[in-house]
Amino acid sequence: LSPVPSDIEISRGQTPKVVDVLAKEIGLLADEIEIYGKSKAKVRLSVLERLKNQADGKYVLVAGITPTPLGEGKSTVTIGLVQALTAHLNVNSFACLRQPSQGPTFGVKGGAAGGGYAQVIPMEEFNLHLTGDIHAITAANNLLAAAIDTRILHENTQTDKALYNRLVPLVNGVREFSEIQLARLKKLGINKTDPSTLTEEEVSKFARLDINPSTITWQRVLDTNDRFLRKITIGQGNTEKGYSRQAQFDIAVASEIMAVLALTDSLADMKARLGRMVVASDKSGQPVTADDLGVTGALTVLMKDAIKPNLMQTLEGTPVFVHAGPFANIAHGNSSVLADKIALKLVGEEGFVGKLLLLNLVVVTAGVPLKKEYTEENIQLVADGCCNLQKQIQIAQLFGVPVVVALNVFKTDTRAEIDLVCELAKRAGAFDAVPCYHWSVGGKGSVDLARAVREAASKRSRFQFLYDVQVRSIVDKIRTIAQAVYGAKDIELSPEAQAKIDRYTQQGFGNLPICMAKTHLSLSHEPDKKGVPRDFILPISDVRASIGAGFIYPLVGTMSTMPGLPTRPCFYDIDLDTETEQVKGLF
Ligand code: ADP
Repeated sequence: LSPVPSDIEISRGQTPKVVDVLAKEIGLLADEIEIYGKSKAKVRLSVLERLKNQADGKYVLVAGITPTPLGEGKSTVTIGLVQALTAHLNVNSFACLRQPSQGPTFGVKGGAAGGGYAQVIPMEEFNLHLTGDIHAITAANNLLAAAIDTRILHENTQTDKALYNRLVPLVNGVREFSEIQLARLKKLGINKTDPSTLTEEEVSKFARLDINPSTITWQRVLDTNDRFLRKITIGQGNTEKGYSRQAQFDIAVASEIMAVLALTDSLADMKARLGRMVVASDKSGQPVTADDLGVTGALTVLMKDAIKPNLMQTLEGTPVFVHAGPFANIAHGNSSVLADKIALKLVGEEGFVGKLLLLNLVVVTAGVPLKKEYTEENIQLVADGCCNLQKQIQIAQLFGVPVVVALNVFKTDTRAEIDLVCELAKRAGAFDAVPCYHWSVGGKGSVDLARAVREAASKRSRFQFLYDVQVRSIVDKIRTIAQAVYGAKDIELSPEAQAKIDRYTQQGFGNLPICMAKTHLSLSHEPDKKGVPRDFILPISDVRASIGAGFIYPLVGTMSTMPGLPTRPCFYDIDLDTETEQVKGLF
């Protein structure tokens, strides 16, 4: 239609097929799905066991050029591509997208279900509670937070004996040590398995975690952009006996539990990662984990359904997994590995899995949202901006995979501009560069892109990592990313960053991969430096670790972990028609 109706009008104009029909179409068995309402289902991990001998499909990562704050269309391209592949070229394909946080939905960004005729439907279910995974994360995260402060309070107010008597039999009321407790005993140098044989001294050593409150890194979380919770004081009630400290809330998706969910590949692995999460140091500087607090089992129980990927569909009835969405400010920002693994099996060897942001192929999205300065033909502006696109192509090639450029066409783009971008992209080494029109006409507008992707994927991929994660030091890995990917001259570590690197290395965490916490608005650390910044020194102000999830994240400048609401938030537009129960104003 012209003009293209609003996202929610388009979404509502299409009736999604009932999800069990969709599940059957893509080869899932009835007992492999758990249905939530009419159009969402969770998929059980047992499907991986059933399909273990099935060859994987091709994996297409959809990345983007350095964006404007409005986004450049990665989600719409991902959806447009799978709509084109499945509904128009008859090739099995799956899109894997992350679940958006409700913070931005009511704040500044709006929804994340794609847009125009390339959307996941029903978009209000996608953008709001989905199947409750973020709520489960919030519950688990805050249980752990409560466990930490309560444990400190109890250790401060109870004798060793009293603590010991309460804590040793704590697991299921059995008078023997649990596995986690045995591991902790071993860490303390006490090689005993029978609780009755512990000496007084060992009892007191074992009973106390001796958490140093100033080292607590585990924060409470909430899925609301509530800036007033960025710094708070907890424990001000009389019942907390003066144990009060400064703390903070982060947005729920910034919880390490979200990062664990996105990276895990089985229930057992998730439990192990949850148990390894480091929440603080003790007074001798040793890490204190969720296992030490005895809470791992309970966290796993709270997360047992969240681990199952959520099946939804595009406007054209093709399958989509929406699962996990770690906060990109401090984590990797991608949907779950489990959804990828299941989708790769379900599409079969000839099929495709398109994922926002190994790997057979990268599609780099280039698009310029409708903003005044971008709506008139400006060949020079486009040519200047292409240096960023060319750099992004080279970055993808560092990993040894072919690149297809998807030019997400906006209605004000002119033929001359489109041709120029495609020409420059090919000159920079892209396998192909194609304009696509899924936003205005749906999958049929991206058939050329789908053909290019299919052809590129038939070439042999020589995927390689940027560095050997086991061998290289933390500093070396950070420098490699800064120089090879961002184009920095070098890095500069603050004394704090250096001290943390030394500590993590000494604690045995030096072999973890690196996830840089840096603005996405520039290749450098300065958001207003567009194009390809050169000769800059990348300042590393601090280094933190998500030990359970399994990565170290250096901070380049300060990164917010709790967004705020703008003066004119999206929630002004959001309403419910109480007659029809339809949600209005989401976009
Ligand atoms: P990203 O995933 O990169 O953040 P999205 O795909 O969510 O970007 O797109 C950002 C916004 O721009 C969405 O509201 C989407 O509807 C809109 N958009 C995307 N492509 C186009 C297009 N070709 N024309 C007009 N609007 C578009």
